[in-house]
Amino acid sequence: MSDGRALAREYLEQQRLLGGDPVVLPEAAPDGRTAGPPDGEGATPSARPPVRPSDASLPPRGISYDPPSGDLFTADPVSQAGSLHALAALVATCTKCRLCEGRTHTVPGEGPDDARLVVVGEGPGRVEDETGRPFVGRAGELLDKILAAIELPRQRVFICNVVKCRPPENRQPQYDEIASCLPYLHRQLDLLKPKVILAMGGTAAQTLLDTKQSLASLRNQVHRFRGTPVIVTYHPAALLRNPNWKRPTWDDVRIARRLLD
Ligand code: URA
Ligand code: SF4
Repeated sequence: MSDGRALAREYLEQQRLLGGDPVVLPEAAPDGRTAGPPDGEGATPSARPPVRPSDASLPPRGISYDPPSGDLFTADPVSQAGSLHALAALVATCTKCRLCEGRTHTVPGEGPDDARLVVVGEGPGRVEDETGRPFVGRAGELLDKILAAIELPRQRVFICNVVKCRPPENRQPQYDEIASCLPYLHRQLDLLKPKVILAMGGTAAQTLLDTKQSLASLRNQVHRFRGTPVIVTYHPAALLRNPNWKRPTWDDVRIARRLLD
């Protein structure tokens, strides 16, 4: 590949942004895929072939949550919604919880309806509320970099949140608000049938897996939501506050990437 070095450079820069150790490209034409954080073998590149992501073993199985899907015979419009578009139209007029009172726009989520990866965050922030689009503020910029680092442009990913309206002052959504909004997320996942779900932050992880376990204890396992693998990692907004978590986040998204391949 003629532009292999340029690609590798870009990859390394993304890795640096994610907190990975700096890697110096050797003069011999490198394979861009060797650019992950060192596995303890980086010092002797010629001694062994590079470890490809798919070679590494996956973390252990975690929680399996299998909530019932909407009943075919129910009159509930959410479980009847036949497309993401129809679902977004229902969200747009939703008043099922108090978060409808302060919103400017609903933020149902966006992305292709055949997306293989779905990213789930907590809830819209200020810029998201102003624009009606998920993850477009500072946390969103970081999410874009995280996705680029696993060679997934945001355009190929479906990005959404647990709650579709902004909580006041960006507080955490409350339990009853989450419960009111959850049928939308469940239906989105039903329609999308992604290959992998990436839960970013404790709210997304605990909601998707129906658990109170901490984010730290949920990381580094392959959970399942209705059979679909769920990988749990830090929320990008948390990474902005604590850059030490970038490195573990990198490890988590690489697991998600491996499950997609
Ligand atoms: N944080 C989230 O959880 N979601 C967004 O859409 C933006 C910031
Ligand atoms: Fe409806 Fe969800 Fe918005 Fe609450 S947060 S009003 S349940 S769309």
